[in-house]
Amino acid sequence: SLVLGIETSCDETAVAVVERRADGQGRILSNVVLSQFDKHAIYGGVVPEIAARAHTDCLDRLVQVALAEAKIGFSDLSGIAAASGPGLIGGLIVGATTGKALALATGKPFLAINHLEAHALTVGLTDGVRPPYLMLLVSGGHTQLLLVEDVGRYRRLATTIDDALGEAYDKTAKLLGLPMPGGPSVEKAALSGNPKRFDLPRPMAGREDPHFSFAGLKTAVRHAAAKIAPLSATDVADLCASFQAAVCESVADRVRRAMRVTLSSLPEDRPKPFVVAGGVAANKVLRTALVGVSEDFGFTFHAPPLGLCTDNGAMIAWAGAERLALGLADGLQAPVRPRWPLDPDAVKATGAGV
Ligand code: ATP
Ligand code: MG
Ligand code: FE
Repeated sequence: SLVLGIETSCDETAVAVVERRADGQGRILSNVVLSQFDKHAIYGGVVPEIAARAHTDCLDRLVQVALAEAKIGFSDLSGIAAASGPGLIGGLIVGATTGKALALATGKPFLAINHLEAHALTVGLTDGVRPPYLMLLVSGGHTQLLLVEDVGRYRRLATTIDDALGEAYDKTAKLLGLPMPGGPSVEKAALSGNPKRFDLPRPMAGREDPHFSFAGLKTAVRHAAAKIAPLSATDVADLCASFQAAVCESVADRVRRAMRVTLSSLPEDRPKPFVVAGGVAANKVLRTALVGVSEDFGFTFHAPPLGLCTDNGAMIAWAGAERLALGLADGLQAPVRPRWPLDPDAVKATGAGV
């Protein structure tokens, strides 16, 4: 079946068409992403109202482009999926309302997609990885370890008690004067840096509780930078490399703990998959660190290709196709949910983080 997917939860407007065959294999027919970061650059962060208006301005056209690139018409679709949370409410309303209008006009089922579920299921589309698997979701707004038991069944094992990892990258980039989005800037600057020059904390490492924390690390970078200001390009590179080394060790420690805890919940008779997804999963240094951890614990490592880690329409369309295959279509009254945890029963860590 062919599903159209619409993503407008933050600052990229994205539309895609994917195919899901009866055997569960997926294929991307088109995937168009329009990033708004130039519109928000002068404000130093995403401005919700500007984001919502920009989605309104270009979404209709992107739907046309996605269909044209896929060489199909509305009548070829089996369903229309739109990210309906979590995210910025203005953008979610634009995407979900457009999706519902298209569903109503074409008589196709509408699928209200959880954006985090879409990140979590992307490896099914790109690598054919099926649940159950252990998953690290690292993005601009979330940092979680999840047990993906099945499509629609997620058990949250850990979350961040303060900043998300992508947020920590973005704030670190900002304080070092690097351009947004911060993750790719920090990764690039770190390439020529010395990861051992600054002795930064490895937050939460060794702790028995499962959670993450990155606010203190970001503050440690701020203090280290203040001590040696004004910063040369070498200083910035060394700070980025040292920050990234601390991130990788901290995350690796948390993942090792989760692997120990979940070994018994995953099947013994086949490889245990470990999946990393979300925007920060595009980070090559982090990927390399997690490949190592996976090998140590007998997990197979999986991650979406770099371009499908950050927000895109294909992941929304794929989550829609997976849900459609299970008969889980939504009505047109489906709400948008700015906060929408994947696991409603999850014990809240103290502080932020849905
Ligand atoms: P969420 O998915 O939690 O709602 P979001 O959709 O805004 O948040 P994504 O698009 O999934 O987030 O990811 C964007 C984040 O990923 C940004 O914080 C960005 O800096 C970070 N990021 C992107 N590429 C890299 C990279 N190569 N290294 C580190 N971080 C990266
Ligand atoms: Mg984004
Ligand atoms: Fe995202």
